[in-house]
Amino acid sequence: MIRYSQNFKDIVSLRKVCFELQKQKTYGIIINGCSCVKNQKNRKKTDSSTTQTIIQKKGEHLTAKNHKNKVKKTASTKRNERPQSFDKNTGKRNEYGKKQKQRHRTKTSHRFSKQDAEYKKQYPSGTLVVRDDFVKAPTFALSETQLLSNISSEQKEGDILTLVDRHGNLVAYAYYGLQKDKVAWTVGKRTTELDITFFQRKFSNAFDKRRAFLATKKTTVFRLFNAEGDGIGGITIDYYDNHFLINYYNRGIYAHRDAIRKAVQKTAFPDTIVEKKRFGDTQDGTIVFHNNKHNDEATETVADFAVLENGISCRANLLNGGMTGLFADQREVRKYIRNNLAKGKNVLNLFSYTALFSVSAALGGAKSTTNVDLAKRSHELAKRNFKQNHIPLENHYFHTDDVFRFIHSKARKGVKYDLIIIDPPSFSTSSTGVFSSERDIEKLIKGALSISTSNATFILSTNNAKIKREKFRHTVEKHLTTIREFSLPEDYRTPHGEEGYLKVIIAKRQ
Ligand code: SAH
Repeated sequence: MIRYSQNFKDIVSLRKVCFELQKQKTYGIIINGCSCVKNQKNRKKTDSSTTQTIIQKKGEHLTAKNHKNKVKKTASTKRNERPQSFDKNTGKRNEYGKKQKQRHRTKTSHRFSKQDAEYKKQYPSGTLVVRDDFVKAPTFALSETQLLSNISSEQKEGDILTLVDRHGNLVAYAYYGLQKDKVAWTVGKRTTELDITFFQRKFSNAFDKRRAFLATKKTTVFRLFNAEGDGIGGITIDYYDNHFLINYYNRGIYAHRDAIRKAVQKTAFPDTIVEKKRFGDTQDGTIVFHNNKHNDEATETVADFAVLENGISCRANLLNGGMTGLFADQREVRKYIRNNLAKGKNVLNLFSYTALFSVSAALGGAKSTTNVDLAKRSHELAKRNFKQNHIPLENHYFHTDDVFRFIHSKARKGVKYDLIIIDPPSFSTSSTGVFSSERDIEKLIKGALSISTSNATFILSTNNAKIKREKFRHTVEKHLTTIREFSLPEDYRTPHGEEGYLKVIIAKRQ
């Protein structure tokens, strides 16, 4: 056995060396110390410093175990040198990431081969056997780990699947749709077809529950249908002053969009329906419909119009990717700031976006607001929101900056704030690096403490579903004392016993 190491510029020169060695009657096995090569067979370039090659001479036997020991991991297999699954700039899954995801799915969907073969004999391809824990407590979303049989390759996303227990008893019907770790979404025990009538029934139940919102003139933006919370996973419908925004989160539900749109039109009388794909390559792909037709006038309207939240006016744009100008799920927090926290305070709003927290604070009597956001465009929209509510811009400051850089510079100057609002995205990238709410929340709290007055109030918020409330509270309470908490408002219905994604803690110094 000889170990041969060479820096190869690309896979072609690596092949050339192997060919030469073979000519010398040396048989080569190429083992890549670098996952970059291993996983991306079709890629031309490899990281030259990381390729490790073991050449096996003819006749020499290399067992799997032997082989494993021989190939020590090179420094190159460190996490940061592996190809990244997500695009640095957009945070979206790149080509490599998509392939990895596909590999994972293919790998995991063959887990049940033995049982599965048995079940296949017994059941037609659209029938899935689910685990006992799911039978005992069926939920709206079914993950792959809750299955005892494979989804047949004959099934297309959007198809209705029959879920049975291991004795063949019906558990529920579900539609097939891949979304994060979920594979199917239950629709009840009687629904065997997702037709207009089915959607109409679900929508009218949900819209009925929002009757109070529909009746008030003070708030014209709220959620009409909240996925599993209203009985169908993978779809939300938001109301923006009678313009309806439908978000589809997986291909399965998207396959039924014609029936969905017709059902919405039969249940309510929207001025416009805007539909968005929130999955796949065009995550924010927007389609506008008005009376079932593309309509230029409707398109113009929904690109810039005013909505109201507890009497506060806000500009909305339904055609701008995933963000529409406001996050209606923070309605209660904004009201609390205005009524209870703002009076006479110097407010700092980090990750301010369209600054609706600051507008609420200003209307509640704040002395000043300072708004920090990476995007200049956010400040332009924020200023419009101030104007829209007749608030002069003196005493309201807008900094286009990274929050950590801003905190650092204010701490050096000894500037202090009385009320600090921290409502970051789950993930973002900037010139100073990648921000992750999971990793950086504590750093933000410490930073905020360094620029706060002794009696300051802090509002900490996360919409990251991966951060559980208990953990979030624990992190906050290492440094602060909670005085009040908020979660999703009532229009963002969640299934019984499930924690909603939004966690907001209002806290003071310890
Ligand atoms: N708090 C907002 C919502 C935040 S949305 C509200 O009340 O509506 C996320 C915002 O954070 C975006 O406008 C984005 O431009 C900004 N952002 C992301 N990373 C940032 C960073 N590192 N520093 C400053 N702003 C950032």
